Amino acid sequence: MAEYDFDLFVIGAGSGGVRACRIAANLGARVGVAEERYFGGTCVNVGCVPKKLFSYAAHYRDDFQDSAGFGWSIQGARFDWQKLKENKDNEINRLNGIYKAILDNNNVTVFQSRARFKSAHEVEIDGKVITAKYILIAVGGWPWAPEYEGSQYLLNSNDIFAMESLPESMVIIGGGYIAVEFASIFTRLGCETTLVYRGNKLLRGFDEDVRDFITAELGKDFTLKLDTDVKKITNNNNQLTVHFKDESQIECQAVLSATGRKPMTADLGLENTAIKTSKSGAIIVTDEFCTDEPSVYAVGDAIDRIALTPVALAEGQLVARALFSGESRAMSYKNVPSAVFCHPNLGTVGLTEIEAVEAKLDVDVYMASVRQLKHTLSGRNEMSFIKLIVDKVSDRVIGLHMAGPDAGELVQGFAVAMNSGATKADFDNTIGIHPTLAEEFVTMRTKRKLHKAN
Ligand code: NDP
Repeated sequence: MAEYDFDLFVIGAGSGGVRACRIAANLGARVGVAEERYFGGTCVNVGCVPKKLFSYAAHYRDDFQDSAGFGWSIQGARFDWQKLKENKDNEINRLNGIYKAILDNNNVTVFQSRARFKSAHEVEIDGKVITAKYILIAVGGWPWAPEYEGSQYLLNSNDIFAMESLPESMVIIGGGYIAVEFASIFTRLGCETTLVYRGNKLLRGFDEDVRDFITAELGKDFTLKLDTDVKKITNNNNQLTVHFKDESQIECQAVLSATGRKPMTADLGLENTAIKTSKSGAIIVTDEFCTDEPSVYAVGDAIDRIALTPVALAEGQLVARALFSGESRAMSYKNVPSAVFCHPNLGTVGLTEIEAVEAKLDVDVYMASVRQLKHTLSGRNEMSFIKLIVDKVSDRVIGLHMAGPDAGELVQGFAVAMNSGATKADFDNTIGIHPTLAEEFVTMRTKRKLHKAN
């Protein structure tokens, strides 16, 4: 008889967890998984996928407006939130089913309940103890909001996807991914939107020129209230008032707090193990994703490295392969591309200029702000931005940043080139595709002075 019930038991059937289950099962492991909420995790249910569907919905407003300059006249276009939500819910239900089917088809035993550690080889589910040779924590993260008077009225990003009606006005607090994406979406769906951020430019951590550019561009679409902190929120018959520390205030129907996410590691029974967490609740792991218990691993948003679905997928896959095929490959966090689906989209891969300078690299910087051909006729006052950072010694392109339509689609390909060591000469020797925005990347010749490191 086997020593353990399972070779691998996974807690959480989100992106990282399901990938680990599937790979491990394909390698012959007996796998179980516990999921108490929804299959597919944040990404499928209350993250990337529904957000992108909402973003498509929002883009139509621009398309309708832009089409006039091209000879179209569209009367009577109106937006129906209930229809969008219903169609979105149907699609998410379909995807939930697909995730569950992946598990079933790979003979993974599914427990639709909460699992808590009893020891480094045991979890308890609905009063029953299950043993496993290895346990993988893939519990993801959850939106976090600060507490102040009236913070009970705050919505988080999960709530937004479940709203039954579109508010007439919304205040969005935060200046990160979620805040700028939802502000771009809701302003286009017809909701009077104000984004309130405590800093002086959006998207901290991104390249400074990108931040300047995107802050200016987004400020054309909705009200931006920068350098502002919230003091309290009051509620008068469902009419909310957000009061700021500078004594100003805004009335609105809804307030979204997009002030970050935290690993969802509370109430997991970690106290029954030697597993350690950071102050934010992130599970502390080695480069091989092993916790302080040699039999327990953790991946994805639970370890708080890079909170992106494709990163969690890669981490889950690495753990499963290392455990069941002996293939041990370190996870590389270099050149992880990402996109922010604000309007215009933002795509980025590699180093920011400041990171390059702080790393004492000798770099050349190329950048341009261009007006797309489309907007000569649409009349839209929207610019696009591109920037390259090149290591002078090797001539390699080590940072590539873009704000413009479909930036994520474009930057994915450039990420492959950069991972293959593409140099600026390779870019220059590549024939452009005309007329596109992407061709600007292979025609950049003028260098710009460097920013100073802090
Ligand atoms: P972010 O960490 O990106 O942004 C949080 C924002 O909230 C920051 O602007 C931060 O300000 C602000 N903030 C934090 N604490 C407070 C506070 N006490 N009062 C006021 N403002 C505060 O988190 P998000 O929630 O936007 O997204 C979480 C993660 O999810 C992202 O980092 C990303 O990894 C992932 N994600 C990815 C997406 C994509 O790939 N397109 C889309 C959405 C999410 P400050 O900068 O000053 O600290």
